[in-house]
Amino acid sequence: NLAAWHQGVRDQFPIVTGHPELAYLDSAATAQKPRAVLDAVHTYLTTANANAGRGTYPWANRTTALVERTRRRVKEFLGDPDLDPDPAPAPAPGRSAVHFVGGTTEGLRTVARDWLTTHLTDGDEILVPYADHQANLLPWLEAQRLLAERGVGVRVRGLPYQAESGDYDHRALAGAVGPRTRFVAATHVHHVYGGDMNVHRIRAAVGPEVPICLDAAQSVGHLPVSVAELDVDFVVFSGHKALALPGTGAVWARNDPARGPEFRPGGWQGTPNTAGIASLEAALDWLDTAGTDRIARWGTALAARLTDGLRHLAPYEILGCQASLAAGSPVQRRHGIVTFRHRDIPSDDLGFILFGHGFMVRADSLCQAGADETDPKRGSVRVSVHAYTTVEEIDRLLSVLTSLA
Ligand code: PMP
Repeated sequence: NLAAWHQGVRDQFPIVTGHPELAYLDSAATAQKPRAVLDAVHTYLTTANANAGRGTYPWANRTTALVERTRRRVKEFLGDPDLDPDPAPAPAPGRSAVHFVGGTTEGLRTVARDWLTTHLTDGDEILVPYADHQANLLPWLEAQRLLAERGVGVRVRGLPYQAESGDYDHRALAGAVGPRTRFVAATHVHHVYGGDMNVHRIRAAVGPEVPICLDAAQSVGHLPVSVAELDVDFVVFSGHKALALPGTGAVWARNDPARGPEFRPGGWQGTPNTAGIASLEAALDWLDTAGTDRIARWGTALAARLTDGLRHLAPYEILGCQASLAAGSPVQRRHGIVTFRHRDIPSDDLGFILFGHGFMVRADSLCQAGADETDPKRGSVRVSVHAYTTVEEIDRLLSVLTSLA
């Protein structure tokens, strides 16, 4: 049963069990680490730390093997059927690729600079999400600018968006796609609304040929993510949100020869974040053992509990579900993220009040371009959970929020 599973899981996170007076509800910003991840980093740094690449001694060879093994592990974790044998051969044309980066922001910039700018020609169009995390907007605008400097004019169009449901406006999507649409950037799970953005409907609208790059910062580590099912060309995620160390992340690329140039940046030119990669390997092992399906069920159940408690408290506005709230219908599934604001209490004040009760939440504009055009000072409060979050923490939060209503 899920409750017993959760208790066994929570006990593996020393930082949360060590601070029972605090409730960490900011896992969408970064996740806490299980002991297995901390141990893997310690073991690596005390038994094998060396640089990766062409080593001539055992520690260097072990570090090289760690990096290659984790590359394959990322593919496996993402359900990529194109697994390399171990040890991996040199990258081959048409094979999928995994490139380690410092996080989603760097990963999306790498796709924009190293791939998109070599892929477009004058008059092409790209579709990008204006209402998602800015990390998934600014790199595409930068690519447009870099191309313009080379005399290549690219039109950037916004992915149609529906604030009332917190999803893309999939009905309007067909109108935004044209014969020159060459690329779409989308998000898997929204970092403010917590809903699944239904990328399969984007695939249906753009057809099988157009490359789609998916910002999976809020889905990898929270729910099963399968590149085979998603039918996308790039998946970018942050290791630190998936229980690994800060400064880790990866870009997975399908590298279908029909879709333009191969994505193979990097190589061994620099020193990779080897301790971070060791943490990522341990984190992915931990997630598979705990079960991403169970983690997803836990996260959606806690989010539903919070939403159900909040929707009847008049001063609170829950973001991205106005349509279902107005209709009195159930709110769409939230993957462990609920964002709201209080009618009278500014969000940063609410954040301080909540911390006075031991709750660590995010309270500001949440890196979303144009999120608070009506009143930039109001912001919002985001509560985000992970496998270690308890039902009791959510209930305690609800009782504090109720006392402020
Ligand atoms: N995209 C989304 C959807 C995010 O939630 C975040 C982190 N809040 C990012 C991108 C940026 O991730 P990172 O800070 O790890 O680069």
